[in-house]
Amino acid sequence: MKVLVINCGSSSLKYQVLDMRNEVLEAKGLVERIGMEGSVITHEKTDMEKFQLITPMESHKDAIGHVLDAIVDPNHGVVSDMSEIGAVGHRVVHAGEKYADSVIIDDSVLTALEECVELAPLHNPPNLLGIAACQELMPNTPMVAVFDTAFHQTMPPESYIYAIPYEYYEKHKIRRYGFHGTSHKYVAERAADMLNVDIKDLKLITCHLGNGASVSAIKRGICMDTSMGFTPLEGLVMGTRSGDIDPAIVTYIREKEGLEQGEANEILNKKSGVLGISGVSSDFRDLEAAAEDGNERAMLAIKIFAHKVRSYIGAYIGEMNGVDAIIFTAGVGENDIAMRDIICNDMGNLGIKLDLVKNKVRGKESIISRDDSKVKILLIPTNEELMIARDTYRLCK
Ligand code: ADP
Repeated sequence: MKVLVINCGSSSLKYQVLDMRNEVLEAKGLVERIGMEGSVITHEKTDMEKFQLITPMESHKDAIGHVLDAIVDPNHGVVSDMSEIGAVGHRVVHAGEKYADSVIIDDSVLTALEECVELAPLHNPPNLLGIAACQELMPNTPMVAVFDTAFHQTMPPESYIYAIPYEYYEKHKIRRYGFHGTSHKYVAERAADMLNVDIKDLKLITCHLGNGASVSAIKRGICMDTSMGFTPLEGLVMGTRSGDIDPAIVTYIREKEGLEQGEANEILNKKSGVLGISGVSSDFRDLEAAAEDGNERAMLAIKIFAHKVRSYIGAYIGEMNGVDAIIFTAGVGENDIAMRDIICNDMGNLGIKLDLVKNKVRGKESIISRDDSKVKILLIPTNEELMIARDTYRLCK
């Protein structure tokens, strides 16, 4: 069966077609600037030149229409007819407490997801638009929703209840949900394969370090805790997000700076993190170049980022009474050799010893700890699309 994977954002959309008999990626692409001037689709059939088309796309339905055209195109397409696509897997950010696993989409699922819009006002609406567009254009094809929050639903209450009046959890669903679940689950399963140990016998700490970043504690394949919270703002310092701060700072800044409604949220989400500290960039490549040129605040931002990851690793080792492997994934985790070195530096007493030579690798599955390191350190490129395709295939085959 061939599966189409759709990851729909507010003005962009990523897609892949995979043949699930052998999990081979057949084509992938990106639509950008949906509903804006200069909408463009970039499509790439595996082992072929990229193909680009600039054409007006007013809506997500227009965008999906162009994706389907590209997939059946006689030159760079991968199917002769859309009926060869057996199912569509959609990435959906927030399922609240409703789903702990992926589901086949029906009307009751759509209603439940509508109810979660309040919890993810930026993410769920475009995800739902993508589903609606596909349902309209492919009415007979089963669709599956794969949630960022689902994997974290196994957390025990002591991990997800905040120490605020309990009625806010009951009335407003305020709790830790966690995000990047598909990525944390994927790399945890790959780690077990690479180590050739049953995941039920492992304690893992997965570090998804990208523009958005989160850490999870995974014991026996089950998520025990994760650093992102009610929203993806909590936890680690990120590219532009503050991560954990004293909540009193919000009201204090609001008063001091005379901020309007919503401005504090904007500052904490878009102008903070390593960008806010350094004043240079949210991109670690720029930060490292600036630090090398002697920019002290860029250096400080790098140190603060690493410090926070180390704090979470320490906390999760405590929570799980140990760790067998630490996994690095996503843009920074997969590519930033210096950052992995700073994070793992001087943790020998915890049995964590990075091999500085093996660590000189980017974007390739590798074990990068020293042979005498009690805790294995792994680099595993994430593959959320494959995970979505796998769940879609599992539910629809
Ligand atoms: P997103 O959360 O947007 O999916 P990614 O996982 O793609 O983010 O990570 C993007 C980030 O990865 C970039 O902002 C950059 O900081 C970092 N990155 C990518 N390549 C490198 C590299 N070679 N060295 C250091 N950092 C890198």
